[in-house]
Amino acid sequence: MSKKRFSVTVTGIVQGVGFRPYVYRLALDLGLTGWVLNSPSGVECAIEGEQEACAAFLARLREEAPRVSRIDEVCFTEQAPQGETAFTILPSKSGPRRTLISPDLAICPDCLAELFAPADRRYRYPFINCTNCGPRFTIMEGLPYDRPLTTMKHFPMCEACRSEYEDPAQRRFHAQPNACARCGPALSFLDAAGQKMPGEPLQLAAAALQAGQILAVKGLGGYHLACDALNEAAVNTLRGRKLRWHKPFALMLPDVEQTRRYCELSSEEEELLSGPRRPILLLKRKEGVLPLPAALAPDSNRLGVMLPYTPLHYLLCAPWPALVMTSANFSDEPIAYEDDDALNRLFGLADAFLLHDRPIFRRADDSVAVWAADAPRLMRRSRGYAPQPLPLRGCRSQILAVGSQEKNTFCLTRGQEAILSQHIGELDDVMTYAQYRQEITHFCDMFKVQPEVVACDLHPDYLSTRYAEQSGLPLFKVQHHHAHLASVLAEHELCDPALGFIFDGSGYGEDGHLWGGEVLYGNQAGFKRLAHLRYLPLPGAEAAIREPWRQALSALYAAGGEELAADERWRWPAGWQVALLALRQRINAPLSSGMGRLFDTLAALSGHYQTVSYEGQAAIALEHSIDDSVSGCYRFAIEERENEPAILDWRPLILSAARDVLGGERAGTVAARFHRALSELCLQIAGRFRADYGVNTIALSGGCWQNLWLLNRVWQDLRAAGFDVYSNSAVPANDGGLSYGQAAVASWRLEAGG
Ligand code: ZN
Ligand code: ZN
Ligand code: FE
Repeated sequence: MSKKRFSVTVTGIVQGVGFRPYVYRLALDLGLTGWVLNSPSGVECAIEGEQEACAAFLARLREEAPRVSRIDEVCFTEQAPQGETAFTILPSKSGPRRTLISPDLAICPDCLAELFAPADRRYRYPFINCTNCGPRFTIMEGLPYDRPLTTMKHFPMCEACRSEYEDPAQRRFHAQPNACARCGPALSFLDAAGQKMPGEPLQLAAAALQAGQILAVKGLGGYHLACDALNEAAVNTLRGRKLRWHKPFALMLPDVEQTRRYCELSSEEEELLSGPRRPILLLKRKEGVLPLPAALAPDSNRLGVMLPYTPLHYLLCAPWPALVMTSANFSDEPIAYEDDDALNRLFGLADAFLLHDRPIFRRADDSVAVWAADAPRLMRRSRGYAPQPLPLRGCRSQILAVGSQEKNTFCLTRGQEAILSQHIGELDDVMTYAQYRQEITHFCDMFKVQPEVVACDLHPDYLSTRYAEQSGLPLFKVQHHHAHLASVLAEHELCDPALGFIFDGSGYGEDGHLWGGEVLYGNQAGFKRLAHLRYLPLPGAEAAIREPWRQALSALYAAGGEELAADERWRWPAGWQVALLALRQRINAPLSSGMGRLFDTLAALSGHYQTVSYEGQAAIALEHSIDDSVSGCYRFAIEERENEPAILDWRPLILSAARDVLGGERAGTVAARFHRALSELCLQIAGRFRADYGVNTIALSGGCWQNLWLLNRVWQDLRAAGFDVYSNSAVPANDGGLSYGQAAVASWRLEAGG
């Protein structure tokens, strides 16, 4: 029989994920000869053998690829046979690299099996890994991704590890963090004073948890504070120490079975939860099945759950039904990730420390996701996802998009892709801002991007905007809600104009007011503001956002005048008369069309929160109080205007809600009627503008779409009405996705301009 030979090129995430050993094993399995190597564009190989075997190779190449690789394209061409007698892995071809860097990956099933196999030489070794799993992004100091440029450079491999590392037939061939108990990183256990304690660290850690102590645990991209989630006293101690009174704590549960005991879990959710990225997944709590302390997530009927993702987590979690695993920081500071820093900052927060000596080069928080409206929705895109590129169709420039002020990420573009940073956080924190600047430099270095232009928000006071202005590069200023709209379109690779319902807390508008309840028509190139929520004055400006009662007072004043606003049955806190004066005289009361403000208002009216301790708290409580068994729906009025955006007037809605509240209706009723009014409004507006603009595509973005009741309902209603509906999935709908949208707009303008 005649032999065939093919030259094959594979592009995508195929480096640093065990792809060459995989190709090697596949070729051996099929009795093929030839070679494989890493090239600047991906992986190249040549295969030679029986025609059937070659065909099987090409068929199986995609199907059986390592779970963490991502094949974008396989190209092959037939060549004349050369009669090699073996299959070999050749040295990498150098050249200008366009390397993709793998995110950190959860321990794979093979390594997990070894971890708990008493006969294995890595039995219970907390740093076991292979080419299919383990740390990547958080230990990389630079490129190429080789051991000397990772924090594993401090650990020379022992003979056994080296032979695995050099054997192409092994799962650990060129696994850069490869290690074992003889040569690799080790654990240590420190007491509250930072003294190293004698004994087996994992046993000491288990004893500390058993005693109800707060344990700081060094992880992959930072430190966690852990405690026994079933120990209410420990959970409350942790809240007190972190000064975090209400925000839900994430749980680490040992496995899927245990998760099912506490939460509803669909097959899609199970896959997301147990996949290699291991985000914190927001799951619906099962009612009254097993007791969990109320203090874990006081306002929410969802629990943030993750499965263990490092071998250390598996060893630590095994004996516990549930551990609290919250990032180790005071409320708004970045997660601690350097040892000295961590010990200093966690002193007083933790009763004990479970540490190891593999340095973390780069901080990466846990990602947060939810499954809603038929897709995974990332709410924080960080560990396990960053820095995997996102599509950016048509982009030919190198752009730096600096992102938002809150929930910051930044974004670099290179070719037709965008590299979104891990979650950076709130830039008004000094340490976070320092990390932000440092990380931008690192990213440019690592990905060999020299930005030609910088894209930023219109807001003059965002620190990211100031950073952009100081860069000395040409600036593209992108309106906040336009960037949200563009983030949805770019992610789904759409270019035609769409109708955007962009609902968030606030963003700087082109008229200098705060926008956030916006109906936009447009695409990456530009937008038209078709409608927006009626402006609400915020008495006390910033204070009104922390104290939603001020917003409620303002809305009542606008809807029913002073008589309604000053009704003593509202029982306003002290200071309300000053706020009313500010409204009457229009001083220190900036205007906002933010949808988040309307949520705050309704929450405050229906008695949830007069003040809040974290953003969105009142809105979350409102959502979770919805009683869908009651009937009724409030109503917006729509005021059409010539050549001006239509006004979505909430005054009739506020009047009805006020009547309900004063008439003794329960909060759940008010919440249900309000949420329905919103979904009705979306449907009505969509229908209205479909006729005017001939547009059938709807984009939903902005932080308010993290309201799952609203997202699911509007999603269903609009699709039932025949619309194509898109919302953010791979990037957050909140400001975490803003930089990606900014990059999309800037790229479009650049290509159009040049
Ligand atoms: Zn592995
Ligand atoms: Zn070793
Ligand atoms: Fe926003």
